[in-house]
Amino acid sequence: MIDFHCHLDLYPNPVAIADEAKRRNIGVLSVTTTPSAWRGTSNLAVGNPAIRTALGLHPQLASERRHELPLFQDLLSSTDFVGEVGLDGSPEHHESRNDQRFVFREILRACERAGGKVVSVHSRRAASAVMDQLEQHPRSGTPILHWFSGTQPELRRAIARECWFSVGPSMLAGSKGRGLVSAMPRNRVLLESDGPFTGRNGRPLAPWDAALAIDTISHVWNLPPDVVAAVVQNNERSLLRHL
Ligand code: MN
Repeated sequence: MIDFHCHLDLYPNPVAIADEAKRRNIGVLSVTTTPSAWRGTSNLAVGNPAIRTALGLHPQLASERRHELPLFQDLLSSTDFVGEVGLDGSPEHHESRNDQRFVFREILRACERAGGKVVSVHSRRAASAVMDQLEQHPRSGTPILHWFSGTQPELRRAIARECWFSVGPSMLAGSKGRGLVSAMPRNRVLLESDGPFTGRNGRPLAPWDAALAIDTISHVWNLPPDVVAAVVQNNERSLLRHL
């Protein structure tokens, strides 16, 4: 199993989490929030090829870190994976909306020039604006919409753009998230923890906790959990096959 959206570098003890993930045979898409975090975070993957480090610039840091875009460009050839990137339309990030759009557009352009990347995308309260940009940059690669929380029409648009979806226990805690997962194409669903920003019983979710989503997906899809696990594993393979 692969946790397709985890902030490994932001746990208090990232090395212990990486070691435990290896012991449990769990893969991780280790996303970053700034280009300057990439080198240090990719060190966590040394000796563990099941950890793939994504180069990111989080929309909530767009204003503060847009000066790191040249570093993003320099590092992009080092990885097949980009994230966490995207747009955040929450009121508290309204002021940075122009910087967010600029940064996301520059990143998608760079991905196009690089021949396409696997891109883990944040779209909180901004699903339509994210889809606008993804549609304007069709050769930017394969988007994985992480913790998608848009409307059903926005979901249909994302499906038409051939987006993938990473789904975790926190997203599935509410009926809206479950309704979205029921409408997602089963061959484009992946698992995520979004740890350490998500928690359970007062503890941050770890990469292996992404598997907790399987029981809920099993109810929503009306399939046995082992079948859901096999579907997800098949999806992981098909996404990574072309890299
Ligand atoms: Mn995240």
